[in-house]
Amino acid sequence: MSASLRTKRTREKERMPLERGVGKCENNHTGSFGYPTRPAEPYPFCHKCGKPMVWTCPNCQSPLPDDSSELLEARFCRYCGTPYFENGEPSAAPG
Ligand SMILES: [Zn+2]
Ligand SMILES: [Zn+2]
Repeated sequence: MSASLRTKRTREKERMPLERGVGKCENNHTGSFGYPTRPAEPYPFCHKCGKPMVWTCPNCQSPLPDDSSELLEARFCRYCGTPYFENGEPSAAPG
C-alpha cells in the first residue's frame, strides 16, 4: 500500500474575471457576455436605452443570477443586499 504523495494545490481565491455572465440595466434590459453569439467581455452600456449595465454586485462583486426569470426580478444582491441600481426600482416614466 503506497499512499501517493500528491501535492496539494490549494488555489487561493483570486479575483478572476468572469468568463461569461449575465447582466442588465436599470430598465431590466438583460444582456450576456462570453457566450458563443455574445460579446467576449461585459459591455458598459445597454444597447436599448443607454443606461449603464450591471454585471456584478457593486458592493461584493457577486455575479447576477443567471436564471433568466430571477435575473429579471433581481434588484438587490442576494449576498449582501446592496441595490444593483441607485434607484432600486425601475424609474417611472416622467410626467
Ligand atoms: Zn436598457
Ligand atoms: Zn453584493
